[in-house]
Amino acid sequence: MSTELERLGTHLAELLDWRVAVATEVESVLRLDREGLRAWRERALVEAVARARRGSAFYGRRLGEAATALTEHGDVTALTRLPFTTRQDLHDGYPFDFLAVPRRDVARFGESSGTSTGKSIAAYFTSRDWITNNCTVAHFLKQVLTGEDVAAVAVPYELAGVGQDLDRSLELVGCTVVALGALTQFCPPERMVDILRETGVTTLVCSGTRALYLAQVARARGWEPRQDLKVSKVLFAGEGASPAKRQKLHEVWGARSYAMYGMTETNTLGMFCRQDALHLIENRSWFEVVHPETGEPVEGGEVGELVVTSLRSEAMPLVRYRTGDLCRIEDKPCPCGSALRTVRHQGRLADRVLVNQTPISQLQLEDVIMSHLTDAPFYFAFKSSGAELLVGLTASNMTDRVRNAIRADLDGRFRIPASFTLMSEETFEQSIRSAVKPTMKSFLIE
Ligand SMILES: [Zn+2]
Repeated sequence: MSTELERLGTHLAELLDWRVAVATEVESVLRLDREGLRAWRERALVEAVARARRGSAFYGRRLGEAATALTEHGDVTALTRLPFTTRQDLHDGYPFDFLAVPRRDVARFGESSGTSTGKSIAAYFTSRDWITNNCTVAHFLKQVLTGEDVAAVAVPYELAGVGQDLDRSLELVGCTVVALGALTQFCPPERMVDILRETGVTTLVCSGTRALYLAQVARARGWEPRQDLKVSKVLFAGEGASPAKRQKLHEVWGARSYAMYGMTETNTLGMFCRQDALHLIENRSWFEVVHPETGEPVEGGEVGELVVTSLRSEAMPLVRYRTGDLCRIEDKPCPCGSALRTVRHQGRLADRVLVNQTPISQLQLEDVIMSHLTDAPFYFAFKSSGAELLVGLTASNMTDRVRNAIRADLDGRFRIPASFTLMSEETFEQSIRSAVKPTMKSFLIE
């Protein structure tokens, strides 16, 4: 063998060894028992905050001496005395104010547009950050997928990490990956459905809204999704999942659905297990739940805003980042055996709809309205008029039976009145087809 080839072989072997070491470390942490995991997390928290303060310009200014009790004396209870990091901080620090490693160590760069401000926020990862996340996601995917599965990924690959990360993780499980993406001009819904059928896709990775729409497209092409296609699993990404939407997906596709949770700037925060619980990714982040107005920690098991501190992010560590998501952490052991706690996601704070002085999450409204729709397509829209909720339905569901059931349920659960308006199926379909990430929000009545 020539010297050049020997050098190449050595380089590749070292690279592979390093990747195996990262993957092995991920698995060893995920296999710790509860006590072992707690001790590991506390050590990791002290190191992570120290690294953020030392490495990132933002935290060098923001944390200062306030973090000393944590970083020098190992007092993890001091975390709750540190200031929060907000989405506004990430906007203001765009792109590299949070960078905590030399620029050349950044292996991947992504960004997300602000949901309300329109300003971008950056997200970047070292190779170790990236592979750690891929391996963690693959660890959970393996609970419901095997190498026999054909997985179609219909979420954005552009800039946002979710498509790229799931793609890599599915590959690690050994699935056949069909990278549909969400660039609808190149791969419109009709082509997506044709590919699902031709390649025998078993697993659809997308928002629930898109999964329901693809079933409609299949029907329009003369195929009955339950009989003519092989989709048996829907992995939710990019949108919360109400029980009613999961039920509808089951009816339409004959599929079981599983929820994942994350955001571009934090990467994955929650993954499903075989028991269909959503486990917090506690080997990568430290989680708190705080009162959305006061910022004070809420009592165990109550709903509040999820706050995230990175434990393993080298490139872009975050300390007490307010996610804007309403969550409830559950501390009881899951039958799957994982020591990671589970979480119930209750929708985004900013997406709550105020009706009659009552703030209601969009997910709760979806659950009420969708559970009473009797005929596909299961489209609906809503808007608060202040005193009541205006609900948009298509002709197929605009019946006395559906309206009365929704009205009674909204009154029973939230004590709010409702009125109804007729909407065309085309209105909904135009919204879905023009959205890179079609979600229930596409359906808000303007
Ligand atoms: Zn579990």
